[in-house]
Amino acid sequence: MPVLPAPDPARFAEIYQREKLLQVQNVTKVFGSGKGKVTALEDVSFDVHRREFVCIIGPSGCGKSTLIRALAGLETQTSGQILVDGAPVTGPGPERGMVFQSYTLFPWLNVMQNVMFGLLENGHTKTVAEGEALQWLELVGLKGFELHYPHQLSGGMKQRVAIARALANQPRMLLMDEPFGALDPQTRAKMQSYLLQLWKHIDLTIMFITHDLDEAIYLADRILVLKPRPGRLGEIVEIPLQRPRDFSQLSSPEFVQTKQYLQELIKEEDDQTYDLPLDKIRLTKVGDEVE
Ligand code: ADP
Ligand code: MG
Repeated sequence: MPVLPAPDPARFAEIYQREKLLQVQNVTKVFGSGKGKVTALEDVSFDVHRREFVCIIGPSGCGKSTLIRALAGLETQTSGQILVDGAPVTGPGPERGMVFQSYTLFPWLNVMQNVMFGLLENGHTKTVAEGEALQWLELVGLKGFELHYPHQLSGGMKQRVAIARALANQPRMLLMDEPFGALDPQTRAKMQSYLLQLWKHIDLTIMFITHDLDEAIYLADRILVLKPRPGRLGEIVEIPLQRPRDFSQLSSPEFVQTKQYLQELIKEEDDQTYDLPLDKIRLTKVGDEVE
């Protein structure tokens, strides 16, 4: 097993003495019943401190989306508790903003109207909503695109509108489910740097699901590693990289070792799935083997 480089104890001591913004206590989520029963989450517990950046990784189907949807209040857990600022989550709330992988902008509204939508829903006047929307659009670098419609924007721009829309409600927490998963690698890298810059300037705690280990290590203070069947929390990994982050760290020994460590953690669980009984299956005609 590769060894995880030691994180800076002072950095984590500072994080852990901050207030607990999120407390997840023994959360279990079961879908369906009888033979169709799926335990998507089993007895998951962890805390997230104010202004932490926590990534969630794990193979497909291990309950990542279920967890973040429960945090958002879009899904009710079967048992256990989720507390935000000490208060139980009973549904969606303005203190928790959500950004999904699929583009969720309203196609019939322009950029400005998309960002204003939640503000108007929360009872702000049109003037206030316009002012706020303009300010957030400027912050995400979309000044001048207010009147564009979603179909006129690139994937990266759409996700920036989605981020502006989530931030306009001034959430304490941003919940992101593979938000950059559909972007090309260059745009994705830009969005990662950009998200870190935003996070640095706003009092924001981020929970971020990704499949991409580089992305998780680059962004996170800590990574929650979920395990499948049933979905449960395997390990919480403290990332041994200093901030501010930059892409040159991707080739540092700490980064490479952390990645190897995480790969090994995830591989253990994947082995079963991919250990196909190849000797029992006739994949190709005799003589077709290419290896
Ligand atoms: P991930 O995001 O890690 O890929 P999900 O949280 O989407 O995993 O799913 C975890 C498990 O729960 C999967 O087995 C999935 O099929 C199941 N599941 C998720 N949502 C539902 C639902 N609404 N009804 C039934 N089963 C579900
Ligand atoms: Mg998912």
